[in-house]
Amino acid sequence: MTLPPLFWKGVSLSRKPTFQICGKLAFLIYPLYAPGVKAIWRKMIDSFGREIDYLRISVTDRCNLRCVYCMPAHGIIHKQPSDILSFEQIYSIVKAAVGLGIRKVRITGGEPLVRKDLPALIAELKTINGLKEICLTTNGIYLSEYALAIKEAGLDRINISLDSLNKEKFRKITQGGNLEMVLSGIDRALAAGLAPLKINNVLLKDFNTDEIADFANLTKARPLHVRFIEYMPTGLHGFCADVLGLGHGSYDDIFLSAQEAKNICRSVGELEPVEQGTADTAEVFKIRGFLGSVGFISPISRPFCASCNKLRLTSEGRLRNCLHSSKTIDLKKAFANNNSQDELAALIQEAISLKPEFHNLPGHHKDEKNNPLVPIGLEAENFSMCQIGG
Ligand code: SF4
Repeated sequence: MTLPPLFWKGVSLSRKPTFQICGKLAFLIYPLYAPGVKAIWRKMIDSFGREIDYLRISVTDRCNLRCVYCMPAHGIIHKQPSDILSFEQIYSIVKAAVGLGIRKVRITGGEPLVRKDLPALIAELKTINGLKEICLTTNGIYLSEYALAIKEAGLDRINISLDSLNKEKFRKITQGGNLEMVLSGIDRALAAGLAPLKINNVLLKDFNTDEIADFANLTKARPLHVRFIEYMPTGLHGFCADVLGLGHGSYDDIFLSAQEAKNICRSVGELEPVEQGTADTAEVFKIRGFLGSVGFISPISRPFCASCNKLRLTSEGRLRNCLHSSKTIDLKKAFANNNSQDELAALIQEAISLKPEFHNLPGHHKDEKNNPLVPIGLEAENFSMCQIGG
């Protein structure tokens, strides 16, 4: 029996045992790929046997904050509006991606809520058959204004980035942000029924270490899910350390492991493990008796590349198959002719075929035990999170 071209096209076949196992699995589920069978059954498997079903979409490179680990000191050169994907183009890309096996999209930025009419995009994406989840990551500044509209548009999940509960520290790390606006946005999101509501906290040694217990306590009486995330090198650690007054500007001066955050949470209460899906990046716990949960995401100390299921779409239409890869594929060129759905599908499959096995950050280097947290390859990978969607 020959497998249909849609499944294999653009996916390089590895002779590694991992792929052979995956190939057998593909063989077994062949009937689901037969012509005429609904797209909701298709799956995309990459060269390393990983199922790719998650697309992060940056809808803008603009932001109303200036977080020090995201925006370079000199700022960024914003794209012209004509260079940014239109909602129609985003819809076409998501439709093609869902046809191949994408099941979940996350809308990011920059700050996605600065993009005019975002609820309209959510409502449009919601009509795509086979797309199971639409999520949003926001800094929360405009959330009070939009919580109800995005809920009514069909948003399934929301993550709010929040690195400090201290007004002055928040202002410092965001270079001018107003904490009250984010906190009232969280209240409004809960009132609108946006659940689960996650709070993403980037761990920065000696900046917010003393607030870890406070963040854990947020989960006590409200259904909030705090995720402590290890800071990943983006080339901005020197600037970050400088503005926040941390150490001497090395990555090691700023990095705090998720394990250290977990130890601090243990002082708040007993951690009870919460079962997660295989592609989930967080190790999640409930503090005994608390309503919400705490989770620990360790891209550096415990990389999860082996179960990575993501693609990233930049606001100007480039598909990035790894956060730390400089290789991107331009999807906008598919809109130049009338055959864009087929062409988009081929380009998405090409991106999957090039997806690397793991990132080139510390954590995958064999001498790591003797040489911890050396940011190998770091300088070559400078980028701003607001440009590619964090
Ligand atoms: S981290 Fe998010 S909120 Fe902060 S500047 Fe970057 S895009 Fe804006």
